Amino acid sequence: MQYDVLICGAGPAGSTCGRLLAGQGFKVAIFDQASFPRYKPCGGGLTGKAQGELAPGWEDLVEDSAGEVIFYHRQKDPLPVNSDGAVIKMVSRERLDAWLLEGAARAGAAVRDGYPIAAVRETESGVAVQGADGRVWEGSFLVGADGARSLVRRSLPFQTEATDGITLECEVPAADGVLEGYRGQVLLSYGGIPAGYGWVFPKGDHLSVGIGSFTRQVKGLRRYFDTFCRGLGLPIPLQLRCRGAVIPAAGGQGGVFHTRRALLVGDAAGLVDPFSGEGIYYALRSGRLAAEAIQTVAGGGGGLEAYSRQLNDELLQPLHYAWQIARVVYALTPVVHRLVTANPEVARRLVEVLFGSATYEDLWHYLRERYAIFRLV
Ligand SMILES: Cc1cc2nc3c(=O)[nH]c(=O)nc-3n(C[C@H](O)[C@H](O)[C@H](O)COP(=O)(O)OP(=O)(O)OC[C@H]3O[C@@H](n4cnc5c(N)ncnc54)[C@H](O)[C@@H]3O)c2cc1C
Repeated sequence: MQYDVLICGAGPAGSTCGRLLAGQGFKVAIFDQASFPRYKPCGGGLTGKAQGELAPGWEDLVEDSAGEVIFYHRQKDPLPVNSDGAVIKMVSRERLDAWLLEGAARAGAAVRDGYPIAAVRETESGVAVQGADGRVWEGSFLVGADGARSLVRRSLPFQTEATDGITLECEVPAADGVLEGYRGQVLLSYGGIPAGYGWVFPKGDHLSVGIGSFTRQVKGLRRYFDTFCRGLGLPIPLQLRCRGAVIPAAGGQGGVFHTRRALLVGDAAGLVDPFSGEGIYYALRSGRLAAEAIQTVAGGGGGLEAYSRQLNDELLQPLHYAWQIARVVYALTPVVHRLVTANPEVARRLVEVLFGSATYEDLWHYLRERYAIFRLV
């Protein structure tokens, strides 16, 4: 069967792109190797920016809301900071992604989950994907929404520059009373792992506890994780939902995210904030931009290069400031923790940026004007 658009990957990026295109009458097929609902290692924190990209109805998925961040340094010296009204909403990725995919199916996209794609191809006249069962599907456009280890990215001549970081995330069932102590707040602990942090996010019936580093040099992630849990007095999970995952941190340098007939979106394009690890907003937003770009090109309005330009200008250029801030914070974590502790205005501005209600660019200029350490890079 001939499709207009083939989408490889049904995370937030692929499902959003598929929903919008199918809603405009495009014949869309979405493939995912996993059967939905599927577990995805993720904190499931939705910033204000991400919330603004979701279609109505997502509020029903929210398991907790946090208006406060508690910053730690090596699980010590807690610094609670309230946001000025901005709130992070906690969701389960299992439920969010299933809901997004249902939305795409309702809009008319054909969904094939539990179906790994083994090869992709682009010719002058079209694109094709081949399932692991050998079957070939043809279309006019291809969207690579297949996450951090994207097959689409590796198969076609894109140019991306993300640095792969590593993470370990566990769902920790909280004993009676423990969960209540974490409600309404997110806990971030810096300094316990090179170039990264540990987190605790409250969910409906458990805590999402994890640790990650934006460099792959770190070895023995489990050891860092155990130290993190022990430092906070959390039970060390031995079981089940404790999974490692790659996180592709953007360097903010820009790239080429299109070919003649294919686009990369979300993690496949390396669109993750290199300071905070936020990726859901970038997945949703790039999914939308990709849908708009395909619509324009299918309507005879130029080529897909406008999509790369838009990604570079709208998403990656601001992340360049996140990358600059990350370089200082992760190199000089104890100094920065003292600075933030001593300056409530810095702490407040930082939380606003983390919650998505202020920009890294403003924060970067604010910090550089006032503190010499931010002029070192
Ligand atoms: C531990 C951790 C914690 C995180 N916490 C947060 C957070 O709290 N907030 C936030 O905003 N971001 C967070 N992120 C980042 C966020 O999870 C990602 O940026 C986001 O999931 C990207 O969405 P996506 O649609 O691009 O890719 P994904 O959600 O990764 O979806 C890609 C899909 O492609 C499928 N796929 C891959 N290969 C194939 C193939 N060959 N054939 C068919 N299907 C394929 C996969 O099965 C998957 O379903 C976190 C990331 C990690 C690793």
